[in-house]
Amino acid sequence: MSLPGIANVHSHAFQRRLRGDVQRRDMSQADTFWTWRERMYDLALKLDLGGLEAAARLTFLECLEAGYTAVGEFHYVHHGPDGRPYGDPVATSRAMMRAARQVGIRLTLLWTAYARGGFEVPLSARQARFRASDPGEVERALDALLPEVDGERIALGLALHSVRAVPPAWLAPLTEAARTRGLPIHAHVSEQPQEITACREATGLSPVGLLAREGVLGPDFTAVHATWLDDEDVSLLRNSGATVCLCPTTECDLGDGVPRTADLFEAGIPLCIGSDSHAVIDPFAELRMVEYQARAATGRRCVVVDEAGAVAPALIQVGHTHGYRALGLPGHGDRVTFRDDARALQGVSDVAAAALTAGHPGMVDRVDVAGETLVISGRHIDLG
Ligand SMILES: [Zn+2]
Repeated sequence: MSLPGIANVHSHAFQRRLRGDVQRRDMSQADTFWTWRERMYDLALKLDLGGLEAAARLTFLECLEAGYTAVGEFHYVHHGPDGRPYGDPVATSRAMMRAARQVGIRLTLLWTAYARGGFEVPLSARQARFRASDPGEVERALDALLPEVDGERIALGLALHSVRAVPPAWLAPLTEAARTRGLPIHAHVSEQPQEITACREATGLSPVGLLAREGVLGPDFTAVHATWLDDEDVSLLRNSGATVCLCPTTECDLGDGVPRTADLFEAGIPLCIGSDSHAVIDPFAELRMVEYQARAATGRRCVVVDEAGAVAPALIQVGHTHGYRALGLPGHGDRVTFRDDARALQGVSDVAAAALTAGHPGMVDRVDVAGETLVISGRHIDLG
């Protein structure tokens, strides 16, 4: 029994290092996305170039062994820990690419523009590693990385960190810069209610409305999270042909909220998944939660389904087809094969449906990327 390889469309590889450490709170205050973010900045400030690469290698290795065959690295840690650029301004992006090549997983490096701390708020010293000074710097980074694209394992894209971190005046020129180079565009969109309030105060528009006004939305655009949408936002995304990337385990871990999965799916918006902060690396858990969150929110069963009402083919579209398209990567020869003796699949008749709704990485026997077997008996052939 095997499935097409699964695309992990949204990753911040270094954040895996937070796993476990952020599962306790300061009892004097509420723990939220914003307190978590401070812990994440502590980590981002600590890692040197070698540390970033080692963290990415381990994350990509765990992803591959779990059944992810492609990853979209939404990469915003560009400069040294003191905020000064490395001699090679895209050194950390190259480190991500080296890590992916070593593991063999397909990678779309989503070079991330991050220019300010919030609406009308400059970058803080703790955000200096992420800084892009002007749109020209973003274009130079993309051009420096384009020669790394091989049409097979390594692709390139542009990420606009969020409407918080990228000024409105940058959105149209950066979108054009990506489109003239044929690159997919990703952005964090409406992950937290605070972002929507701030965006409306500053621009009179929701984040999706602002992205629409600036011409960012389109079939090459992926909105990551898209948790707090109104009906107008859903229409704008649908009419543009954009994709939505849900990151259920991270969105739960961070207390982001529950997405409008049923509305998005029934509007015909392509959905894909990402493990984002890597609090959990388990493609079966992400896919199962896409469907289960839709059930929990609507009181209905079998929401994300194909024309015949079956969950498994629809989740394969989410995990594979839409994900690879969002990353601009080929998926030929990418497969995940389960152990013949996987206990969770014994005695079931619809094995694909059982794998997608009850599966786990411990069932993975073999993983192939581009027809090359990289994982055997659940372990990487060289790095396992
Ligand atoms: Zn993210």
